[in-house]
Amino acid sequence: MKAVVVKKPHEVCIEEVEIPSPPPGFARIKVKAAAICATDLEIVEGNIPANYPLIPGHEWSGIVDAVGSEEDSHWIGKNVIGSSDVVCLKCDACRSGNWRYCESFEEIGFKRNGAYAEYMLAPVYGLCEKPACVPFENAALCEPLGVALGTLKKARAKAGQTLLIIGAGSIGLCMLAAAKVMGLKKIVVCARSSDGLKIAKEMGAYATIATKEKDLEEEMSKLHPEGTDLVIDATGAEECIQKSLRILKRGGTLALAGYGKGKIMNIRIDDIHIKNLKVVGAGNNWNMHKKALSLMEDGSVDLSCFVTEKIKLEDFETSLLHAKKRPAGFVKAVFVNE
Ligand SMILES: [Zn+2]
Ligand SMILES: [Zn+2]
Repeated sequence: MKAVVVKKPHEVCIEEVEIPSPPPGFARIKVKAAAICATDLEIVEGNIPANYPLIPGHEWSGIVDAVGSEEDSHWIGKNVIGSSDVVCLKCDACRSGNWRYCESFEEIGFKRNGAYAEYMLAPVYGLCEKPACVPFENAALCEPLGVALGTLKKARAKAGQTLLIIGAGSIGLCMLAAAKVMGLKKIVVCARSSDGLKIAKEMGAYATIATKEKDLEEEMSKLHPEGTDLVIDATGAEECIQKSLRILKRGGTLALAGYGKGKIMNIRIDDIHIKNLKVVGAGNNWNMHKKALSLMEDGSVDLSCFVTEKIKLEDFETSLLHAKKRPAGFVKAVFVNE
């Protein structure tokens, strides 16, 4: 089969590799859609731990083509999405629901081969059947949408709270979609340039701010005069995090959902201490695929506008470049297999 392989940092190619066989507990998926995530670019650049050579891809959907255990044979032929977390389900962490702390935790697309291929392996316990009304390429986005749902849950977001989202990439926009469904109010999205904010406006953001043109703190003092209940930073940039702490209302919450790239940052801890702020890490998708899929199924969330580029595996180079440079209007490139 064809697969896009990151041989080592900065070395990516398309290769003919063996079709994987599912061990017990696993399904082989004929990949129908695999979205390129900003995290995948970090793998290409060697900024986060990965097992090279690696086939990336953790945002996927497809059709179950084979299973490793007879008891799972009812999955064969089903259209699915699934969790990319491979865990033991037996240790204390798994049994207490904190399976991402499992001692044998391995994530598909990071430690194990992922979805930039014609076939991939995924654990059967994480599969969810995809309803026909949700296209494969949208279903692949249940992964980032689930990250957003999980972040809002961790931040204990409540209906009626005000929200600022910093960053209008796919994670920032998924946060917007999830927050709207959850009833947050006066949701403001900011990004450096107005290009990326067009879609946020179309998705129903209360206001958008291009920080190249306007001062974020000044604008926020007009939009949320009492301070903001929740800020989600999807950039990982020092300046944005510093500003978030000042924009937040007393007792407010900052959720960190961007990569800091290992950087040590200057944070004024008095902003957190005196204002009694809570800071939470978004982490990853904590088993939110099913919920994300149900929101797509009933039409509460429609991420069709995120799929701005459908590509073949062969065209990985241009799309990885687009995902990095983010030309005007770009949200997500998705590999689509016939
Ligand atoms: Zn992702
Ligand atoms: Zn475990």
